[in-house]
Amino acid sequence: MDLKIVNGTVVTANKTLRADVGIAQGKVVKIARKIKEPAQEELDAKGLYVFPGGIDVHTHLDMPFGGTVSSDDFRTGTIAAAFGGTTTVVDFSIQGKEMSLKDTLSTWMKKAEGKAVIDYGFHVAVTHLDDATLEEIPQMVSLGVPSFKCFLAYKGALMIDDGALYRVLLKSKSAGALVMIHGENGDVLDVLIKDFLAQGKTEPKYHALSRPPEAEGEATGRAIAIAQMAKAPIYIVHLSCKEALEKVKAARELGFPAFAETCPQYLLLSYQNYLEPDFGGAKYVMSPPLRDKSNWKVLWKGLAEGDLQVVSTDHCPFNFKGQKEMGRDNFAAIPNGSPGIEHRPPLLFSEGVNKKRITLNRFVELVSTSPAKLFGLFPEKGTVAVGSDADLVLFDPKAHFTVSARTQHQNVDYTPYEGVKGKGVAKVVIANGQVIVRDGEFLGKPGAGRFLKRKPFGLKR
Ligand SMILES: [Zn+2]
Repeated sequence: MDLKIVNGTVVTANKTLRADVGIAQGKVVKIARKIKEPAQEELDAKGLYVFPGGIDVHTHLDMPFGGTVSSDDFRTGTIAAAFGGTTTVVDFSIQGKEMSLKDTLSTWMKKAEGKAVIDYGFHVAVTHLDDATLEEIPQMVSLGVPSFKCFLAYKGALMIDDGALYRVLLKSKSAGALVMIHGENGDVLDVLIKDFLAQGKTEPKYHALSRPPEAEGEATGRAIAIAQMAKAPIYIVHLSCKEALEKVKAARELGFPAFAETCPQYLLLSYQNYLEPDFGGAKYVMSPPLRDKSNWKVLWKGLAEGDLQVVSTDHCPFNFKGQKEMGRDNFAAIPNGSPGIEHRPPLLFSEGVNKKRITLNRFVELVSTSPAKLFGLFPEKGTVAVGSDADLVLFDPKAHFTVSARTQHQNVDYTPYEGVKGKGVAKVVIANGQVIVRDGEFLGKPGAGRFLKRKPFGLKR
């Protein structure tokens, strides 16, 4: 054995047990109450949980948006992820104008190559559809990309129409892929944005006011209805409000395979943040926007009861200085997105498990197991089991943290969680059997992360 972890408490989505974990050649090779055989290296996990590494299936590293590029690349972004206890990311490669899906994927592969410190995969966002693009869908699945994203918002840029969505759903279903939806009504938002600007209403809060929760509820319900017509599974990204959750819940109650994720920002932050002085509200400009606080309870309940299956981040950082500032006189010119890749596990543990909103096992399911299952990574990722990749987090539930831009590893000049305190810290992070973070020190190396060819959706595992 290369490494053994002793005296820890192993936690998976359905089990909590006192056990040692043995690792060889990047894989978990033994789990037992006591492992007697020697190992090259031993880590004492007394008082610590041993979790499967976190999986963040919604990130935007090195992503062009509105004339600028998100400030974390695959090196800085994956290092930050590792510090928080995330050992796999699935990022979005976004089809450019006139670009094939294959070229889109290879463009993003180049961004990650030699830089990622943890394993990574890609979804492909389909932003315009013709017959040739449609025919590429099965090919993408065979290249290890069994998930496609469609935007119902960003009219004139990323948005596709309902007919195109229907065609993508049909094709994806037959190819074994899951379609992911940005659910906001782009046509109505377009009118609202123009109207506010015409009235001289340019501050950040109008970003939120131009994107009402009803627009998310409507587009989410419409996407699900179109998926029902295509008899295809569907996954709603960054669900932020009651109006949208009700649509997902209703479909699931009928036994329809509708899935959804939410993100920490929608559980911890609210519309009030847009009122911060000196253009401070720009830090929270993301889509969908932060909602009224009344949604927090609804979303936590959705996570606890299973109506929401995943917590991801939608990590898409832009510096306040020089990037967010591009929209000082026009909220519509503020780059959309906010950082969070580093803080998802500690925030969800602290706010969720410590505050008894979700159980310990449900926490593991939301940050690791369920995303692994939905996105073709299970059981290599997403659990602690013999034969699985040795992506593990030694997590100290008693250690205190305070989130701050001064101490974060994300390459951005602020955090939306500045000053948030909690308990629960990743002490040691192991990726493919290698210790990459230990007591606040980074020990991994750029390029060590591998591209993951993910399995088609819906295979029995
Ligand atoms: Zn996103």
